[in-house]
Amino acid sequence: MQRFLCVSCGHTVSVLPGTRLTYRPLEVGRLQGFFDAQAGVSFGLDPPAGLVEAGCLQRAWKRLLTRVDSLKESFGQILPAELHTAQQLWKELRRGVGLAEEMLRFLARSCKRSLLGDYACLRPAP
Ligand SMILES: [Zn+2]
Repeated sequence: MQRFLCVSCGHTVSVLPGTRLTYRPLEVGRLQGFFDAQAGVSFGLDPPAGLVEAGCLQRAWKRLLTRVDSLKESFGQILPAELHTAQQLWKELRRGVGLAEEMLRFLARSCKRSLLGDYACLRPAP
């Protein structure tokens, strides 16, 4: 992972590869596959998740359930106004934005947020 140091203020910035999630040991493609299955867009992960990965994926989905309003607000016009469940939200995100990697890129650039959390580390240093 690339890390940069600002020599004038001493703040460091880490650059997360587009295939990784903030604070979660999950690969974005696998998360997308799992969320697709949860939303009824696909039939499940291939290869299936092992025990540890399955736990991480379940926790990630549970987290998404709490993020519907915040993500609706972030993506704004990209999403239809009538959206209530995480399943609907995920389906519309896949249709309107595309890959999970693109969602993460949009959120980081436009809102300084992530899919599963609004982490302080994504915001500029004070
Ligand atoms: Zn600085």
